[in-house]
Amino acid sequence: MNRREFLTTAAAGGYSLYVFAGDAPPAAEPPPSVEQIRRDLDRLAPAALKPGAIAHEPNMRLVELACDVLVAGGGLAGVCAALAAARHGAKVILVQDRSRLGGNSSSEVKMHVVGANCHKARPGWREGGILEELRLDDAAGNPQRSFEMWDLLLYDKLVSEPNVTLLLDSTLYRARTRDGRVEEVMVRCDLTEHLYRIRAGVFIDSTGDSRLGLEAGAEYRTGREGRAEFGESLAAEEPDDKTLSSSILFTSRNYRRPMPFRPPKWARKIRREQLRFRHIDSWEYGYWWIAWGGDRDTIRDNERIRFELLSIVMGVWDYIKNSGEFPDSRDWAMDWVGFIPGKRGSRRLVGDYILTQHDLERGTIEDAVAIGGWYMDDHPPGGFDRPNLEPNRAVRTKGVYNIPLRVLYSRNIANLMMAGRNISCSHVAFTSTRVMATCAVVGQAAGTAAALCVRDGVLPRDLYRDKRRLRALQQTLLADDQTIRGLTNQDPDDLARRARVRAGAETPAAPAALVIDGHVRDYPRGKNQPPEIHHWEAPLGPEGAWIELAWEEPRKISRIQITFDTGFHRELTLTASNRINHGIVRAPQPETVRDYTVSYRTPGSKDWKQLAAVKDNHQRLRRHRFEPVQAEAVRIHVTKTNGDPKARIFEIRCYA
Ligand SMILES: Cc1cc2nc3c(=O)[nH]c(=O)nc-3n(C[C@H](O)[C@H](O)[C@H](O)COP(=O)(O)OP(=O)(O)OC[C@H]3O[C@@H](n4cnc5c(N)ncnc54)[C@H](O)[C@@H]3O)c2cc1C
Repeated sequence: MNRREFLTTAAAGGYSLYVFAGDAPPAAEPPPSVEQIRRDLDRLAPAALKPGAIAHEPNMRLVELACDVLVAGGGLAGVCAALAAARHGAKVILVQDRSRLGGNSSSEVKMHVVGANCHKARPGWREGGILEELRLDDAAGNPQRSFEMWDLLLYDKLVSEPNVTLLLDSTLYRARTRDGRVEEVMVRCDLTEHLYRIRAGVFIDSTGDSRLGLEAGAEYRTGREGRAEFGESLAAEEPDDKTLSSSILFTSRNYRRPMPFRPPKWARKIRREQLRFRHIDSWEYGYWWIAWGGDRDTIRDNERIRFELLSIVMGVWDYIKNSGEFPDSRDWAMDWVGFIPGKRGSRRLVGDYILTQHDLERGTIEDAVAIGGWYMDDHPPGGFDRPNLEPNRAVRTKGVYNIPLRVLYSRNIANLMMAGRNISCSHVAFTSTRVMATCAVVGQAAGTAAALCVRDGVLPRDLYRDKRRLRALQQTLLADDQTIRGLTNQDPDDLARRARVRAGAETPAAPAALVIDGHVRDYPRGKNQPPEIHHWEAPLGPEGAWIELAWEEPRKISRIQITFDTGFHRELTLTASNRINHGIVRAPQPETVRDYTVSYRTPGSKDWKQLAAVKDNHQRLRRHRFEPVQAEAVRIHVTKTNGDPKARIFEIRCYA
């Protein structure tokens, strides 16, 4: 099947459910041409179709589609799930009910993405994988810190990915199940007057609110468990149906002339005592503590929640501008205010396992596929209306913790997976896993698992039960730069693991041999202690620096992947907060190798033949594919970094 034959219209009839991906590595196929993209978009709106195929929708045209993996919800979890599945060869349809991707990280909400490194409090624990690729592209291409450019980057990634079909402004509203499996879903795009009936092998719910799971009849939980249920010390005494509130953010700018503000008449009147625990020290970026509605139904009451949040935002801005307490705000004016309440909590789908506070504190678990590490960060459900309470209680786990596969698939719907804030967690565990960097790495894990299921014709649960498959999934994730605590590269196909390594130069703390020690990151130790090193490092002399892998017997090689340093010890996120942005490099990261070549030597020869020459790299993971060569040795020659005087490489892998 060529890259988009899986898109079929009602007129064409049949569809193919499974595509066998083989061991296709990420981005195996070249990006589609502009003409291909246009053709695919036209196929989503076939001219020949007449409206009325569905009786109670006389004006809507019905388009039949099929794919291997259907991802519902285009937040960071859904984006990473779709990219991961597609890069492993699955035909993917991503359905997103808004015109922008990124969910709460998009320009519609403008929440900055945080994760295991707790902003700057747990340095060294930035996530890897697809999220890191997105962050690096964003830092290099968006120094202006525009959230709209972030939206565009996500759009670009998806339309440029062979195997992904993107349906924007399209809402999943129904699912049909048979024998405990989802068979098809219904999606509507009222902007184009289309209904889509989509069949798939595996379905991933990344809608945040678990709409797909709800429609499929999947078990779910809402609210907070009582302490007795899981014995969690941080749980509420008694169970209830409350959760974290939603929030609306704003941004403002200094216009260097007086900028008066008159609030709308429905703005709340804010008094100083309401801000006792809610601090205003800058106002270029709104306040996460403007939160409301966690003691209501955050889905059904969304309209009321929007009104209350906007009235609080306007009230707080009125207080900043007109109370007299902040004379420095004179020249400042709001230039953006959110209209979509950023949701933190609603439904959580129940998997074969429910992650709890104990798992986060223990840190490791057998079927680990991703890491988390944000605080267990709970908020009083009443939000801003509980001014006598601190707006949150954040408890940090000792280390980063592993997230298992069993919380990413439904207990009762066999081919339904979940990724994002709706994974199978207790409320307490959810208060940590909910942050978007964690949602993103969970998305990568779910998408990869879904693609492996499709490839092998098995269900997500089978990946857990068959330990051989589980190990294969974990190793696949590691090869794609996903971090899993305690796991290292054990890939039997990686020829580099059996190579001799030498380099033109190396620093004593970071010898060349570390590029095949199985680790792709340094591990932070205690405060003021140097990290545990797992990279090669060499000063860049006038000729650059080189590192070489050699074998006793020549090896057939057609793929090489290199993991560079991108400064994990620093925070990297797109934020409108000047304080958070402090120290972040909005450019290619200086540690990253910029210009390099990859060469090989044939048996008995002294000459190096070039396989690749790269300029202007800013990515951490680079993959090179070429016609197979018989190589006695492979050499990476670094000639320039993005600023650092030393070259650094974490890992080199070679495959036949
Ligand atoms: C103000 C605020 C502060 C927060 N603080 C942070 C923070 O500092 N850093 C951080 O990382 N996280 C933070 N969070 C938490 C975080 O934003 C959410 O938990 C996170 O967005 C969840 O990611 P997700 O991909 O699961 O869902 P979302 O980001 O909500 O994405 C889900 C997407 O699915 C779409 N969708 C929903 N239903 C359907 C449907 N039926 N069909 C098609 N598409 C659908 C939605 O439009 C949405 O775009 C905060 C949240 C808020 C509101």
